[in-house]
Amino acid sequence: MGRGNPPEFPGVVLVRYGELFLKSEPVKRQFTGALLRNMGAAMESEGLVYTCEVHRGRILVHGPDPGRIAAVLSRVFGVVEVAVAVLTPPDPEEIAKAALGLAAERLSPGMTFAVRARRQGVEGITSQELGAITGSRIYDAIGGLRVNLDSPDYEVFVELREFGGLVYDHPVPAPGGLPWGTQGPVISLLSSGIDSPVASWLMMKRGCIVEHLHFDGGAFAGSDVLSMALRHHATLSGWCRGYPFILNVCDAEFFYRELVDKVPPRYRCVLCKRFMFRVGSLLAEQRGALALVTGDNLGQVASQTLPNMAAISGAAGRVPVLRPLIANDKNDTITMARKIGTFRQERQGDLGCRAVPGMPATKTTSDELERLEKRLGMDDLVAGALSRCRQVTARNGEIAEDGNGQGSTLQG
Ligand code: ATP
Ligand code: MG
Repeated sequence: MGRGNPPEFPGVVLVRYGELFLKSEPVKRQFTGALLRNMGAAMESEGLVYTCEVHRGRILVHGPDPGRIAAVLSRVFGVVEVAVAVLTPPDPEEIAKAALGLAAERLSPGMTFAVRARRQGVEGITSQELGAITGSRIYDAIGGLRVNLDSPDYEVFVELREFGGLVYDHPVPAPGGLPWGTQGPVISLLSSGIDSPVASWLMMKRGCIVEHLHFDGGAFAGSDVLSMALRHHATLSGWCRGYPFILNVCDAEFFYRELVDKVPPRYRCVLCKRFMFRVGSLLAEQRGALALVTGDNLGQVASQTLPNMAAISGAAGRVPVLRPLIANDKNDTITMARKIGTFRQERQGDLGCRAVPGMPATKTTSDELERLEKRLGMDDLVAGALSRCRQVTARNGEIAEDGNGQGSTLQG
């Protein structure tokens, strides 16, 4: 039971799920079903015992370890906020008593506090009145307090609903978004960098089943590139706990050899990206994925100028390319990467690409690139790359197995 829980009231985990409310009834039912499945899969992956109770905009999760349940559910997409709460009968006096039980542990004379009250589906009392009843109970019982609604030292949250009262003081923000699996599958191009894991996470947050594709440049890639991409993949699998998370690793060294040999250096980066899009779009078709995702960000490097992005996009054929970070500032992306867990201070490994030229072209056209692709024999290279893909599966934050059936203990 949580800290300060008055012994006569049981502890529950309160789960708020916001955006699902916007959908029509049948869609809402489908989304809530997916959310419950995903919450269950995440809790089971941690061996947690639980039961769920669904109410409008709220799910109550009962179980012997509410603290761990709340921690796991705060990383499930579709969940907006979680809190370990005290569940009381639907009576303002009982709610006030439970709120005092929590507040008494935290408040001492001279401190400021606020009560945040909500009410739904219960007549005969407003949320202001519920807040006032609770506030005066706390105020009278603990001397020397002041109310401060703007920036209090302590906040207690109370809710009155048909099924009962909920009281908590430590809401934990969760990612929100849509439940994993409620949107289509996508292939996300995962590098060892900062951007692409964030792009993948954003698509996961939006309900997509993300499958990763990484091109391993072999001798042309820095020695830490593949292991960093694997780490990103492992970390991101912690955001869809209970489900297998697939990474396709394409052995692409042979491609870079040809590229470096056969085309003028300034075109290497754009042709490399077109190669990735070609392989990615074919893989998407094979796997039934509906789009490609990249961490592209306008103007970040030569291959991400608008003319170059236009010239590269055509290589994806009919598969749309989604670029969730296109207008981000790099700092915003880094802040997100820290929250997600993919930004690491010690990232100073060897992550460079040995094929990058000194002066990459910033303005190419698809016509000139198609001409160069003929010289390169791009169609054969793409077919060769597809046959050089192996799958690595991660689960619950760890790499579980690879294409050779060998286990690995790499952690995200
Ligand atoms: P990131 O952009 O993810 O920080 P980066 O800076 O190394 O990585 P860019 O050159 O900016 O890569 O490439 C733009 C996008 O192309 C990446 O965000 C990623 O989606 C994709 N990409 C780059 N390198 C690879 C790779 N080796 N395998 C798969 N996708 C890649
Ligand atoms: Mg980048």
